[in-house]
Amino acid sequence: MERQWEGKRAILHADLDCFFASVEVLDNPQLKGLPIIVGGTGPRGVVAAASYEARVWGVRSAMPMSQARRLCQNAVVLGVSYARYAEVSKQFHNLLHRFTDEIEPIGLDEAFMDVSGCARLFGPPRLIASQIRDLVSRELKLSACVGVGTSKQVAKLASRRAKPTVVNGKIEPPKGIVVVWPGHEQEFLDPLSVRELWGVGPKTYERLKSVGVTRIKDLRMLPDSTLAQVAGRTGSRLGALARGIDTNPVESRSQRKSLGHEQTYPVDLNFPNEVDRELVRLADQVAARAGRTCVAGKTLSLKIRFADFQTITRSVTLPSPTNSKSMILKHVRKLVPEDACAKGIRLLGVSLSGLLLDGPRQLTLDEGITTERQNAISQSVEAIRERYGTRAIALASLLERDDLKEKRQFD
Ligand SMILES: [Mg+2]
Repeated sequence: MERQWEGKRAILHADLDCFFASVEVLDNPQLKGLPIIVGGTGPRGVVAAASYEARVWGVRSAMPMSQARRLCQNAVVLGVSYARYAEVSKQFHNLLHRFTDEIEPIGLDEAFMDVSGCARLFGPPRLIASQIRDLVSRELKLSACVGVGTSKQVAKLASRRAKPTVVNGKIEPPKGIVVVWPGHEQEFLDPLSVRELWGVGPKTYERLKSVGVTRIKDLRMLPDSTLAQVAGRTGSRLGALARGIDTNPVESRSQRKSLGHEQTYPVDLNFPNEVDRELVRLADQVAARAGRTCVAGKTLSLKIRFADFQTITRSVTLPSPTNSKSMILKHVRKLVPEDACAKGIRLLGVSLSGLLLDGPRQLTLDEGITTERQNAISQSVEAIRERYGTRAIALASLLERDDLKEKRQFD
C-alpha cells in the first residue's frame, strides 16, 4: 500500500481537537468532561469554540453566546485567553517542525505539511501522522486529528472525517487519522456535500443547488459550460477540486515573500468613496490572510491601473511590521495619488512584503489593540468566514470592547 505514494505529493492536515476548550481543560483539569464554551462574554459575544460535551446540546462556533447559553444552560462559559492559546499553538507548530519545514500554519491549531520527501527519515505518511498524534498527546496533553491525501483540499476534508462526531446526542470517538490513498480521491470526494469544497459559500451553494448539484459527484458530472454559468470565474477551479485536482503548494513562511490581493473592476472607479470602499475591502483581505498565516510585513504597496492602462505602484516602509487592518488601511489611503479618480481606475491591488513571523515587537500607540489579539481575532473571523461565507462577519462586530477582555468567569 505505502508504495502508492511514490512520485505523488503527500500532504498532511493536522488539526487540534476543540483547541480553545481543550487548553482550558489542560489548565484546569476539573473541567474535564464538562460542557465548555469559550467566546465573547459581553452582550454581543460570539462562541469561539465549544467542547464536544457542549456541542451535544447544539452549541456551535460563531453562534451568538446568548443562544449558546440557552441551548446549554449548565455550560461553563469562559472568556478567550488568546495569549495562552498562542503559547500552546507555538508548541504545536514546533512539534510539527521536527518532521519538516514545509509547514503552512492555518490559524492557531491547524497546519498543512508536505511530507513528500520525508519517507526515508520518518516513514510513510500514515506513520508520520500517527507519530504526530502520539507526540501531541504525550507532550502537549492534547488530541489531534490528521488527514492524509495527495492535495491540501483532500487532506483537509480527510482530517475533518477523523474528528470526534456527535451522533444522536452522543460523542463518537475520533478515527484520529484518515488516509485518502493516491488514486482514491474520487471515491472519497464523490459522496461529500459540495459545501465542503473551498470556494463554495452560501451563495454559490444556492446556485449549484438550483441546477441539482448538492454532492461533489454531481459537480464532477456537470458540463463545464453549465458550471461556468453557475459559478462564474471560480467554476473551472471548483470543477478541478471536485475531481481531486488541487495543485496548491504548502506555503511555508520561509518561502513566501509577499502577500496581496488585487481586483479588476468591470466599470472604472471614478469617485473617491468608491476607491475608499475598495481599499477597505482589500486591506481587510490582506490583513485576514496575514493574520491567518501568522505573518506581518513592513512594506506596504498599492498598485493602480488607470483607465488608459498606465500602471503605477507606490510603496511605503512602515516603522514596524504590521498585519493590522486599520494600519494597512491608514497607510494605503495615503498612497493614492490626488488625480487618481479623475483618470479613472480599472485595477487596485494592496500587498504586504518583507514578511516576518509575527512574533513579539514594538507596539505603536495608534494600534490600540495588540497584534496577538488582533491575530486571534483575524483568525476567528477567518474561521467563521470559511464556514459561513465571506460576508458572514465583519471585523467591527467583533471589536466590541467587552468581548476582548481576557476575563475568566470560572476559576
Ligand atoms: Mg481544530
